Amino acid sequence: MTVLKILTYGDEILRTPSKEVHKVSAKIHKIVDDLFDTMYSYNNGIGLAAPQIGYNYRIFVLDLAMDNEPPCPIVFINPKIIKKWGAIDSFEGCLSFPDIYTHVRRYESVIIRAKDRKGRLFTLEAKDGSLLSRAIQHEYDHLEGTLFVDHARNRFETDHLLAEKGLPQIDSEYLIEESELEQEIIEKQRNSDKNEDSVSRNPADCC
Ligand SMILES: [Zn+2]
Repeated sequence: MTVLKILTYGDEILRTPSKEVHKVSAKIHKIVDDLFDTMYSYNNGIGLAAPQIGYNYRIFVLDLAMDNEPPCPIVFINPKIIKKWGAIDSFEGCLSFPDIYTHVRRYESVIIRAKDRKGRLFTLEAKDGSLLSRAIQHEYDHLEGTLFVDHARNRFETDHLLAEKGLPQIDSEYLIEESELEQEIIEKQRNSDKNEDSVSRNPADCC
């Protein structure tokens, strides 16, 4: 069992786009095992991407099982998001940003294709703003060198949280313009206010 140090925001490796895996070799299996061992060492860890433990390879892992459920590990190698639609507000954290949680914009649903641990291709659909859908987008971003704060709905509030923890401010160079997603989220929240429903928010988990 190898629990590795998780790189924190500010480390260049987190901003470096990751390379494709050409062969699911013993070396890749070791990285997958290290990802799980490291992720499970955190109570609130539900996902981890290879760059977070220092490897710029296109690999991430997820396990969204609750404490009282059996483990449900999923491995994504060379993933590709082949479809995404809808918009949602997601309250997120990241193991590379200790104790920082903020509201970000995400697609509501995605379809992803990837290879599993044995190198077999699979396709997974994650819908309706589910934790799975949001976690897939969060982890996939890590492989592109994109971080959750790049999707922040309130940049100034997020900068304030980062400053409080002594982390670097959001870099304008990486900030993603998502006016259509933002518009759709506002619209949705307005409609839900009208229906006197509160906007449902899932508890924050870190990936
Ligand atoms: Zn993360």
